[in-house]
Amino acid sequence: ADGPRVVLSARGLGKDFAGFTAVNNVNLDLHHAQIHALIGPNGAGKTTVFNLLTKFLQPTRGEITLLGQDITKMKPDRVARMGMVRSFQISAVFPHLTVLENLRVALQRPNGLATQFWKPLSSLETLDPRADELIAELGLSPWRDRRAADLSYGRKRVLEIATTLALDPQVLLLDEPMAGMGREDVAMVADIIRNVAKTRAVLMVEHNLSVVADICHHVTVLQRGEIIAEGDYATVSQDARVRTAYMGV
Ligand code: ADP
Repeated sequence: ADGPRVVLSARGLGKDFAGFTAVNNVNLDLHHAQIHALIGPNGAGKTTVFNLLTKFLQPTRGEITLLGQDITKMKPDRVARMGMVRSFQISAVFPHLTVLENLRVALQRPNGLATQFWKPLSSLETLDPRADELIAELGLSPWRDRRAADLSYGRKRVLEIATTLALDPQVLLLDEPMAGMGREDVAMVADIIRNVAKTRAVLMVEHNLSVVADICHHVTVLQRGEIIAEGDYATVSQDARVRTAYMGV
């Protein structure tokens, strides 16, 4: 029987930095409507894999396919327009603009990079209906006309995710989306990610293992640049190598 559709696939992915192998032989499949976690101790290579997949780094070895197209040699903005976006930091949100205004600006982005070529708000004449759709999807309706600066830390993070969704991606990459949050915000953002993943593939780097256990369908565990275990959380958390890796050796 067919499982969920593969939207992103990496084969034999590797990266060397001046002779040091940071990532080696990584194979990864992301599936439509599934949340995939990338976990592992500090220095395991998670950020490097993230940067390789989004083409912020050029791989030393391996191939990456997005929606059936070879993207191994493509530039990040092209990959973003093709349907894979990554979350940036909260600083990608304009604090003096409202939630709605931030989304209007994001929807006018002619390329995939949050930091380039923004059009000024004053030049936006029509209200794109997708702005309100995204606000509703991400549970931001009560804050629609509030300035981003006045949102809680967790809601700012949700707004930042909303702006990345303005490109209508099929694949969303989130780097520690719950970092620095208290319990309530963690639960809120977990719900939002679950909702977002109903219609998209999500890859998240996450240190909070109870969140991973809660919302992720598939887990890949990295150590010293290589995959040491993969499967659902129940499976990888029983793995002897994973247990040793997490004992802080
Ligand atoms: P993680 O995100 O899992 O903490 P990283 O991907 O940041 O791990 O790093 C993996 C390894 O690669 C580490 O040993 C790190 O020091 C090394 N590394 C990462 N980026 C660079 C770089 N630009 N130059 C040299 N070494 C790097």
